Amino acid sequence: MNFLEEWIHSAIKQSLGESAASGNFPTGNRKIMREDIERYHLQKLSELVKYIAARSPFYRRLFAKADVNPGDIKSFEDFSKIPFTEPRNIIGKPHLFCCLPQSQIFRGFSAEGTLDSIRVFYTKDELDRIVASIAAALGTLGLRKGDVLQIMFSPEAEWGCDYLVSRAAEICGARAVVTGHGLLEEQVDKMVEHGTTMLIGSNPYIYAITGLAEGRGLDRLGIRSVILSRGCSYFPFDESIREEVERVWGGKAYDHYGTIETGLAVAIECPAQDGLHINEADFFIEVVDPETGEALEPGEEGELVFTTLNRRCMPLLRYRSGDISRLIKGRCGCGAEMLRMEGVKRKILRIGEE
Ligand SMILES: [Zn+2]
Repeated sequence: MNFLEEWIHSAIKQSLGESAASGNFPTGNRKIMREDIERYHLQKLSELVKYIAARSPFYRRLFAKADVNPGDIKSFEDFSKIPFTEPRNIIGKPHLFCCLPQSQIFRGFSAEGTLDSIRVFYTKDELDRIVASIAAALGTLGLRKGDVLQIMFSPEAEWGCDYLVSRAAEICGARAVVTGHGLLEEQVDKMVEHGTTMLIGSNPYIYAITGLAEGRGLDRLGIRSVILSRGCSYFPFDESIREEVERVWGGKAYDHYGTIETGLAVAIECPAQDGLHINEADFFIEVVDPETGEALEPGEEGELVFTTLNRRCMPLLRYRSGDISRLIKGRCGCGAEMLRMEGVKRKILRIGEE
């Protein structure tokens, strides 16, 4: 069963149900259809633009410059006329995006690495929602009571990625062991010590551990699933790494997508390993030509552009990720019908443009 799809549908139903008084959503256990999701997206986008216009100095200025009337977003076409938000818009100026007073900010995350630092802020409720979506994803991958998830992210301050994932594992009834990002030898020792059944860590790190475990004859420890995360930096998912990890551990390796700006957990593969299921309750994704910014036909490869639907602290509208992928529609082998994306293989870096 795809718990992530269930979680997403329930979130969408709840949100649409709030407007049931207006008679536009029949109550009961009706299945969520694509039209419902589109209606939900349009409703959220229209509300979000008005919310942001009243609170974010950056977007107020952007709307004025582009002649966008925040009350006029009635269709996806209206929405597509809003200019993109670029990573460089946030660098050094995250406060211009904040829609809530500082007292309500709970935690900031920084995206370090190839781009200058981008800082993004979240409320406690927003982090709790991320944890809930991660729990649904881990449940889809089979994490249950009796399992041990070994989390190999570099240690962070309170409420870092490692902590969010460990809380999600506990929701699944499993035990989480945070082993940081230290010596490879120690990671393998910890697997033996704790009886780890699922691993999560960055692609190159897991790849290195895989080689080491095989060299020590400690493969086949009972690890059923390995989540190859891009972590907080950019590491492309490589099918040859997947093959190697699956061969050595004897379990399944899964691709995951999420960035600091988009809220860490956006999409993940399911046991069918046929594209990454997208959290459509929290994200509206467009695919555009990376050169011209024009919308592409469904299924065409282009740059992913994100709008965060439920963030109230630092929402982002039409954010250019630089990540190249394509969307996949139709039923997945796991039975879920939610939108999927191909794993990201390439990132475009735009530095110093103004
Ligand atoms: Zn699936």
